[in-house]
Amino acid sequence: LVKAVDVCKSFGGFKALDNVSLEVRKGEVCCIIGPSGSGKSTFLRCINLLERIDSGAIWANGELIGYRREGDRLHEMSDAEIARQRRGIGMVFQRFNLFPHKTALENVIEGPVQVLRENPKAAREHALELLARVGLADKCGNYPAELSGGQQQRVAIARALGMRPSLILFDEPTSALDPELVAEVLEVMNDLAGSGMTMIVVTHEMGFARNVSNNVAFMDGGKLIEYGPSERVLTRPDNPRTADFLRAVQ
Ligand code: ATP
Ligand code: MG
Repeated sequence: LVKAVDVCKSFGGFKALDNVSLEVRKGEVCCIIGPSGSGKSTFLRCINLLERIDSGAIWANGELIGYRREGDRLHEMSDAEIARQRRGIGMVFQRFNLFPHKTALENVIEGPVQVLRENPKAAREHALELLARVGLADKCGNYPAELSGGQQQRVAIARALGMRPSLILFDEPTSALDPELVAEVLEVMNDLAGSGMTMIVVTHEMGFARNVSNNVAFMDGGKLIEYGPSERVLTRPDNPRTADFLRAVQ
């Protein structure tokens, strides 16, 4: 479902992504781990077109991301085409980024009605279902400020799901949460994985990486150092840098 080949991205002279290649199949969960500044967020941002890549290619849902191929030539996509591609890719950030002046329900309804032009009544039904699915059936009318961090993050997940994405990217979804709120968010993500959603998750939660993800990618210095089945990478990494990192975090 997602395939990155030799992706490079520099900021000024600094190589944030250095020939990153990775493939995630439909229904798989891939966790990306690695030290601060290793390019994890940049990689997610390239997948959903918040950043343009310098070279290489990314496919998602069978489509080349950001470019159109005509014969041998690649053309940059128009903003409208980019917006269409981005709609199929959900993103959940470390900070929940909810609309503060909208209720939980309104936050989930907004995109489907404004962007997908869904019928408001149908969008509302779907949003209520999604909020129930993340355990917030009784909080639909609450504003973000009236919700805990864990609840806000669950609304953010429901909101991503409202757009009916084929893929959801998570960038450290639990890092900003108080420790006692982490588990409720991970449980929702675990359920989502169980439902067959394709997910790429940047996380420091090694338990989640081990128990939920199919594959783990270790990034360091903009490079994908190691990528393979979670169990193998987390217990018997091939690369000494992966081993050092795991020793430091576990
Ligand atoms: P963290 O774990 O701290 O979130 P990360 O692995 O997500 O780190 P990135 O945010 O992808 O790291 O950043 C990778 C490198 O690229 C960093 O050195 C960062 O300073 C640099 N970088 C990221 N975005 C930009 C930008 N817009 N302009 C300049 N440099 C950037
Ligand atoms: Mg980051």
